[in-house]
Amino acid sequence: MSDMTLRAWQDEVDDWIGRMGGYFSPLSQLAQLTEEVGELARLINRVHGDQSFKKGEKDEAAIPDEMADILFTLTCLANSLKVDLTDAAKANMAKKTQRDAARHAGNSKLGGASA
Ligand SMILES: [Mg+2]
Repeated sequence: MSDMTLRAWQDEVDDWIGRMGGYFSPLSQLAQLTEEVGELARLINRVHGDQSFKKGEKDEAAIPDEMADILFTLTCLANSLKVDLTDAAKANMAKKTQRDAARHAGNSKLGGASA
């Protein structure tokens, strides 16, 4: 998959879901989204938290796939609810930028990983 816009991603997911029979209800999708977040949380806890791996569990290499599961499930929910994620992301970033312009200045706890 080459780079794509959020709009193209939403369309691709919508096409795929259409071929698979359609969307589950928003409530079921929310439950699935929560499940997927839990799967990522378990991995992060194993890799970066205090938990140890159980035999046979997915390892750190599965983190990107779990993130993609979350993105896919969130996109399904957005499509079902007719939410344009591009518009939502732009509006949300603008809100954060204004609200948090000086919020973290001088926070000595920052300095961790960034993209
Ligand atoms: Mg998963």
